[in-house]
Amino acid sequence: MASKSDVSGLGNLEPAAVWGFFSRIADIPHSSRKEERIRQGVRAMAQEHGLSVREDSTGNLVIDVPGSPGCGNAPITVLQAHLDMVCEKNADSAHDFDRDGVSAIVDHDAASGKQIVRADGTTLGADNGIGVAMALAAASETEVTHGPLELVFTIDEESGMTGAKALTPDSFRGRRMLNLDSEEDDVLYIGCAGGCDTTLSFEYELEQPGGDVVACRVAVTGLRGGHSGSDIHENRGNAIKVLVRTLLRADHHTLQVASINGGQLRNAIPREAEAVVSGPPETIETLRAVAKTVADDVIRESAEEQLSISVQPVPAGDIPAVLPPDQSSRILATLAALPHGVLAMHPGIEGLVETSNNLATVASSLVDGRRKMRVEIATLSRSSSTSQKEATVSQIAAVGKLAGAVVRAGNDYPGWEPNMDSPVLSTCRGVYTRLFGEEPKVTAIHAGLECGIIGERVGGMDMVSLGPRIERAHTPEERVFITSVQKSWKYLLAILAELARG
Ligand SMILES: [Zn+2]
Repeated sequence: MASKSDVSGLGNLEPAAVWGFFSRIADIPHSSRKEERIRQGVRAMAQEHGLSVREDSTGNLVIDVPGSPGCGNAPITVLQAHLDMVCEKNADSAHDFDRDGVSAIVDHDAASGKQIVRADGTTLGADNGIGVAMALAAASETEVTHGPLELVFTIDEESGMTGAKALTPDSFRGRRMLNLDSEEDDVLYIGCAGGCDTTLSFEYELEQPGGDVVACRVAVTGLRGGHSGSDIHENRGNAIKVLVRTLLRADHHTLQVASINGGQLRNAIPREAEAVVSGPPETIETLRAVAKTVADDVIRESAEEQLSISVQPVPAGDIPAVLPPDQSSRILATLAALPHGVLAMHPGIEGLVETSNNLATVASSLVDGRRKMRVEIATLSRSSSTSQKEATVSQIAAVGKLAGAVVRAGNDYPGWEPNMDSPVLSTCRGVYTRLFGEEPKVTAIHAGLECGIIGERVGGMDMVSLGPRIERAHTPEERVFITSVQKSWKYLLAILAELARG
């Protein structure tokens, strides 16, 4: 942590043009879906440099930048970044993201000792303010050599990608693009995953529990959870799977489900799940024994040291109705059959997950005057391959159909399939190696990027994503590394000079 004497403004940092734009952006509140002020602010910054700005009906900005002298005939290069930021703050912060600009502070990163810029108890918005600032600096600094540029600044990347989704083939003319929204300065991203949601729903009549049954609550807690894209390869425990494994191992012919719930968000690996079930008198003892076995197995398999599976009796009088045994076992069997985790690795890029599925949530509720139970199961499938994504969704739908569920798929968005023969990639690679004396890493991420949507909506795009090192984005610990901004700026200028040659 910095002592107060370490704290200074951004005024002395290099490159001055990038930090100048960044601090003006940080001063303007700009949370997702509230981009009016940042749109006006960025318009004003561009107009100060005599650049013309177009705004589409969604609020995306496109800024036309003529080529520098002698470079006016090169093909257009698109520099793309997003205007919005994630607004997270510490519980004790009085910051109001609707009213206050972010206070950017120069500090040292405790882990690496390197100089960073962070905020004061809030997200910084270097994701993606630093990308917007680099694009504006490249467009406005007279000593930068570049061909014609289009700066494309989208809205609402963080909460729905609605800006990118509104782009069309006519939104801008350039077809080679540098996206400035990635967070490692020695990596070029050339692909990302698309996704599709699937929901299975069941509705069954309830019945009264029998006379000599006992009831209990089985709760799975203590798992790590995580992002369903970027953490899926870590084989973390899925609380719904652990719960179902426990119940099925105890018995699947006599257990009757009174409720079953687990997971919270479609894009998070479920950390907690619980079911209330009834069964013959020995049920609680059996469940406790198998819970211990299953917990030991999962801790060994998935390094989930904090996992707990508890089995607590519930007064039978608290359970007015349960699903019949057949339907109970059908729900549990469906949850057991649905895929979860990594389904395929990319054949051409070592270590990249190509296809995965997150068995994300299960939720039961009473409907129809409490005569019936509705059970909804939600999954999120991701793949950088459109055909693999479709195959995964159809596999999930097939499980649902076999089980008699109503199946709905939606919110389908495209991935960005890596193109190892991309001309922009070849330029970026060559320039990096020449400047820094080593090869950049070239990879893709198993999560969504605007490039996937832009590639589909605009068509014919040749794209690479790059940017300076940012850590802990989307948290109040967000930080951008100052020497990395210098490195990325130097790199961007060299790429633009190279692309200006044709
Ligand atoms: Zn971002």
